[in-house]
Amino acid sequence: MHNDITVPYIVRYGSEEQKQKYLPRCTTGELITAIAMTEPGAGSDLQGTNTTAVLDGDHYILNGSKTFITNGQKAGLVIVVAKTDTTAGSKGISLFLVEADLPGFSKGKNLTKLGLKAQDTSELFFQDVKVPKENLLGEEGRGFIYLMQDLPQERLSIAVGAVANARAILEATVAYTKERKAFGTTVASFQNTQFKLAELSAEIDCAEVYTDRCTELLLEDNLDTVTASKAKLLTTDLQCKVADECLQLHGGWGYMWEYPVCRAFADSRIQRIYGGTNEIMKLIISRELMK
Ligand SMILES: Cc1cc2nc3c(=O)[nH]c(=O)nc-3n(C[C@H](O)[C@H](O)[C@H](O)COP(=O)(O)OP(=O)(O)OC[C@H]3O[C@@H](n4cnc5c(N)ncnc54)[C@H](O)[C@@H]3O)c2cc1C
Repeated sequence: MHNDITVPYIVRYGSEEQKQKYLPRCTTGELITAIAMTEPGAGSDLQGTNTTAVLDGDHYILNGSKTFITNGQKAGLVIVVAKTDTTAGSKGISLFLVEADLPGFSKGKNLTKLGLKAQDTSELFFQDVKVPKENLLGEEGRGFIYLMQDLPQERLSIAVGAVANARAILEATVAYTKERKAFGTTVASFQNTQFKLAELSAEIDCAEVYTDRCTELLLEDNLDTVTASKAKLLTTDLQCKVADECLQLHGGWGYMWEYPVCRAFADSRIQRIYGGTNEIMKLIISRELMK
């Protein structure tokens, strides 16, 4: 989140002063960042954002609340998505660099999740927070465009993680089935086991090639939203399928938390939801097809 998603916003859209002020501490890890888009009433539909930032002299007055924010507890600096013009639709959305110690900014509890136990996820509240004018990130009214420009990198980052996780689960399962005995032989010796693992291995290889191609496109600055959405959709669906099939091959032990496949099963589920749900990925891809 910090390295691949939030800090790049400051690198791309930050002023020289903002970069000097924040990036050195972001690099050392003294300052952890988060990005706050989602609200209790607006997730997939970003334009439904209700958080507002109203210019008042040298400050914007920020009001609203966010939820499900990764690094919410640890973050010392949060990129907040807010409406600077509630009548302008997506053109009324702006981004702000909000320091966590500003009066009126409070954090809810660390939310209890199905998986990703090591990652903190929180609600954030803003009540008349005075955000200095110079903490506007980029230009006013261009927040939605910045988000659309940076989401492909976020989605690719999720895809890379999905492929890596899928491969790790597969490898752990190959090892487990070679050890585990049933009916006087190993679970790996059953044709069902071999065929399942072979199918998953082939699918992971194909997903990896597509993801590598997307990485090349990103490095050439040519990764478009549709291509990145396909990567996110394909790889995260696959990760969940791999986790499910591999858990099955572990039998009851696969349902036990001490086994990596059990934790991988819990951790993989969110991949189809955050970074834009996989239904939203299909929406983006189908819009392009129907053009
Ligand atoms: C662990 C975790 C970490 C997260 N980290 C962050 C973070 O750091 N920053 C942040 O801003 N957000 C974060 N999120 C929020 C995440 O991005 C949202 O949960 C996600 O975008 C979905 O929004 P929602 O939960 O409001 O679901 P909703 O938008 O209410 O969607 C509910 C269901 O309706 C479907 N749906 C919605 N619209 C359509 C449509 N047009 N067509 C078809 N189906 C549709 C969705 O696909 C979904 O299945 C995180 C969430 C979690 C759980």
